[in-house]
Amino acid sequence: YIGNVSHELKTPLFSIQGYVESLRDGAVEDIAIRDRYLERISNSSERLINIVKDLDMINRFQAGEIDLEYSVFDINNLVKDIFGLLELEAEKNKAQLKLVSSQSAIYVNADKQKIYQVLLNLISNAIYYVNRKEATIVVHITSQTENVLVEVEDNGMGIKEDSLPRIFERFYRVETSRNRRDGGSGLGLSIVKHILEAHHQNIHVSSTYLEGTKFSFNLEKSEKPPVVN
Ligand code: ADP
Repeated sequence: YIGNVSHELKTPLFSIQGYVESLRDGAVEDIAIRDRYLERISNSSERLINIVKDLDMINRFQAGEIDLEYSVFDINNLVKDIFGLLELEAEKNKAQLKLVSSQSAIYVNADKQKIYQVLLNLISNAIYYVNRKEATIVVHITSQTENVLVEVEDNGMGIKEDSLPRIFERFYRVETSRNRRDGGSGLGLSIVKHILEAHHQNIHVSSTYLEGTKFSFNLEKSEKPPVVN
């Protein structure tokens, strides 16, 4: 585990060190190049901060230190917000984002910010691990008797059967160069699992290599909250 942490921290740290040294040598006189180096230093620092934040969240979940803040909200709206945020990223990867919901508004009782994080991680993975020119990512929201079923389905590169049980482990990444995301740390799905387990829910995954992947989980269904004046 410690080996994994240091491995993930090494890349951005060495990148920062390299650019700082070049700037300190005074050899870079061109302002445009200097700005580019500063930009890379800033990106690598941000990446380090994100890894440390993710690790901190996982540690706090494991120590039982995270209390959920439950509220009632419309899950369809949350999905639409995330689609808005990821629109450009999806366009870049030629992926189409679709919401298919059994009703126009569906209310759940959950920690909104944390479920936002779950969906953001799942949908951004689906966008990243695309496999074809016309990629489609569909989020299905289905109201059931007591629960709301949430499914994130893509027609991307899929995951081989032997890797499937390991993808929720901290720092686990499918070991092929194609599957290695530049910005990824292998912590996203581990966080998803912790958040859902804190909600007393499981995350399920089914995948066919080179065809696509579907992640699904339930949330507690709720009635629409009363309007407060
Ligand atoms: P990463 O930061 O590498 O994306 P994650 O924990 O989010 O880390 O995912 C773990 C691994 O699972 C990824 O490296 C990738 O190989 C695989 N994976 C996750 N989501 C998908 C998906 N939708 N399609 C194909 N592979 C996926």
